[in-house]
Amino acid sequence: MTFTLHGQAVSRGVAIGRAVLVASSRLDVAHYFIAPDQADAELARLRQARDAVAEEIARLREGLAHDGVEAHTELAALLEVHLMLLQDEHLQDGVKHWVTERHYNAEWALTAQLELVAKQFDEMADPYLRERKADLEQVVERMLRVMRGVASPVAAAPAPGVEVQPLVLVAHDLAPADMLQFKQSVFAGFVTDVGGKTSHTAIVARSLDIPAVVGARNASQLVRQDDWVIVDGDAGVLIVNPTPMVLAEYGYKQRQGVIERERLARIKNTPAVTLDGERIELLANIEQPEDTLPALSVGAVGVGLFRTEFLFMGRGGKLPDEEEQYDAYRRAVEGMHGLPVTIRTVDVGADKPLDHHRRDEHLNPALGLRAIRWSLAEPAMFLTQLRAILRAAAHGKINILIPMLAHLGEIRQVQVMLAKAREQLDRRGAVYGPVRLGAMIEVPAAALAVRLFVRHFDYLSIGTNDLIQYALAIDRVDESVAHLYDPLHPAVLRMVADTITACREVGKPVSVCGEMAGDVSMTRLLLGLGLRSFSMHPTQILAVKQQVLRSDTRKLRAWAQEVIASDEPALLLAD
Ligand code: PEP
Ligand code: MG
Repeated sequence: MTFTLHGQAVSRGVAIGRAVLVASSRLDVAHYFIAPDQADAELARLRQARDAVAEEIARLREGLAHDGVEAHTELAALLEVHLMLLQDEHLQDGVKHWVTERHYNAEWALTAQLELVAKQFDEMADPYLRERKADLEQVVERMLRVMRGVASPVAAAPAPGVEVQPLVLVAHDLAPADMLQFKQSVFAGFVTDVGGKTSHTAIVARSLDIPAVVGARNASQLVRQDDWVIVDGDAGVLIVNPTPMVLAEYGYKQRQGVIERERLARIKNTPAVTLDGERIELLANIEQPEDTLPALSVGAVGVGLFRTEFLFMGRGGKLPDEEEQYDAYRRAVEGMHGLPVTIRTVDVGADKPLDHHRRDEHLNPALGLRAIRWSLAEPAMFLTQLRAILRAAAHGKINILIPMLAHLGEIRQVQVMLAKAREQLDRRGAVYGPVRLGAMIEVPAAALAVRLFVRHFDYLSIGTNDLIQYALAIDRVDESVAHLYDPLHPAVLRMVADTITACREVGKPVSVCGEMAGDVSMTRLLLGLGLRSFSMHPTQILAVKQQVLRSDTRKLRAWAQEVIASDEPALLLAD
């Protein structure tokens, strides 16, 4: 039966493929009672899963040994720990108890025992042992996956010459860090039940340039494994089991998309200059040092936002040390061959938890200990990051960008920490370079007090994703209020316009690095408001450049003022 589901359009294009359903958390584990005479069969399933995982880990470890890379020693040791946890008697006996005494099915028994043992880990005094809880969770997750008969969600690329049908991943939720892993996957499209247009999962999907729909409510329940699906990333629609006519129509749309991209590629080397000669800076947003390659391939003239938190995620609580961070920032700077790189200090919290699948436990994570608040609460971690950035600045132009600032006290603390980081490097005799210090304008308080704020910084960058979320009091991750997420709300536009004006008044650079910068329907308005620097996913740069090349900022100025004074800006924008 064919049916259609609606969600949020987050990533351009059309994908057609077979659905692959991935349960993304242990909540999806089946819970049922078994008959006593089924206990042996359930225990056998558990043993099989354990053996399969042990084999998988042993294979991974062997692969590392053959690589002969020094850095892999630590990884091999970690796999060893996983193997030990797998064989742990306490875990096995406990699981057996739940199955034979309480008649839980195998998966339920495993997760029940995990909860128990995890609590014991939490109570351990030794931090090393405490951290092993995450390893145990990973091991159990692997076993659950085997028992569900589902392969790891990270599908490896097919072997050369092997024909595969396109696949579309359907999941209840995917953490931003999960999405990053899909860079090397075979998936042609993504669908999730939850998430808003500017949730970080959506942002990463956009950076992968793969058609995606998020917030499709109960897609993961309604779509069946192996169903044919069409992901319309432009309209935010998922069509399940389409008729041959609809399939043909979308096949055509897909081909048109390819032709359009080829056409845009022709302006890659054309300077981004408006009809009236205004030079516009088109910068890239990146998540990993390797992303500098696609950024350069579309002609980005620098990195306007390096979201460093992706280096910190999914590591079971183990944060990257100074050397690892220095290496990542240096690679990003060298990757840009002399072009400037804006490195934002870590912004974890809200929908970017440090660990996979674990959302922040606070009641209002978006309003909680997030971004700079977390950094200032963890001074050792913050200083480590600042030192790594300063050292990388010896290799090229670096701007430091601080997320979510709202208070003068926070600004002062950041300045003190930066001075302290330099002092520490001096004491060590380490080489470091100069950096410019900038702030994100993404909390309305900062936007409203921008003239006071800008005095303390070399430049500002407007984070429209959060500015909209906080101005309109809607969670950017929550699909049930996604219809209220309005970049064109007059209050939002006024704050954006005022921030641009305030920076121009004092001659300091300002850019927009939120999703608004890569939205072609907003390009003319932002140009009219005086914006000359846009930072976005590399995938958007050429489409925005096309708008720039067709614009005359002299004609847009008065019109932009009309738009922000209007109570229905969307109507004027559509003209
Ligand atoms: C923003 O808030 O607009 C922004 C660019 O930062 P992030 O999306 O990472 O919160
Ligand atoms: Mg933000």
